[in-house]
Amino acid sequence: MSNISIAIHGGAGTILPSSLTPELERAYKARLQEALDAGYHALKNGKTAIDAVEASVAALEDCPLFNAGKGSVFTSEGTHEMDASIMDGASLNAGAVSSITGVKNPIQLSRLVMEHSDHVFLTGKGAEDFARHMKCEFEEQDYFFDELRHQQWLSVKGTDKFQLDHSSLADKKFGTVGAVALDQHGNVAAATSTGGMTNKKYGRVGDSPMIGAGNYANNATCAVSCTGSGEYFIRAVVAYDVACLIEHKGLTLQEACKEVIQNRLIKIGGDGGLIAVDTSGNISLEFNTEGMYRGRRNAQGLNEVAIFS
Ligand code: ASP
Repeated sequence: MSNISIAIHGGAGTILPSSLTPELERAYKARLQEALDAGYHALKNGKTAIDAVEASVAALEDCPLFNAGKGSVFTSEGTHEMDASIMDGASLNAGAVSSITGVKNPIQLSRLVMEHSDHVFLTGKGAEDFARHMKCEFEEQDYFFDELRHQQWLSVKGTDKFQLDHSSLADKKFGTVGAVALDQHGNVAAATSTGGMTNKKYGRVGDSPMIGAGNYANNATCAVSCTGSGEYFIRAVVAYDVACLIEHKGLTLQEACKEVIQNRLIKIGGDGGLIAVDTSGNISLEFNTEGMYRGRRNAQGLNEVAIFS
């Protein structure tokens, strides 16, 4: 029990105090705290790290302020295509889905892929059919419609531009979501869920569902969930790189996260951040952008949510 720890994020990007009204800032913080508490209470009640990260991410998916589930951004075709993944550090089991529409909680579907299929990664129609088979909840298109995200898409529609949901362009609602946790049994887990990037080409898949790029967990090292410009996170294999620096170079969690986000990622032009937890309960929240919606809580009384750097 003593070391239980959890961290969450709701996306990183050009998030400045001037881009949020006090009401909006309060709303973000309240939703982050709820999601943090959902996972923390699961851990406190003896549930697994997988249960905790699923609970936190599902809470964020249900909130339209974040770019996942209900708040997902628009593709170049004006549709929503969601990606998600989950990984269990104890068994190295993982489940992932990409390019899915209509599924209310993509993170739940990822877990079902992990636990009830012989596969790790299902995409598109195959993933949606599997979701129906597993009796996942579906929503109509208008459930995912959000006026501000629609405006955000209209501003780049018809161009080749695609952008982080949390870029400076006219938007006040940001965020791919993720959670990492350490449970009472010493196991870590990671979960990440996203609508991707505004005006992305349909069929584009980012880092979030890719094991090792946007999401990774291994009891030998740590659990990591990323947010940022996915193309760069894929090329830098960010989440696995953090684990490798710990395992093979003996870096601490903090040092490894800093090296990857502040050095290696920047060198290739990537922006964003990550959250990570190790099996001692250390938490790292590292980002190279102006802000990252984030929170962390542990059994020693640490309990905070923050937005700006
Ligand atoms: N990493 C996500 C993607 O590229 C976007 C984000 O973090 O907001 O799909």
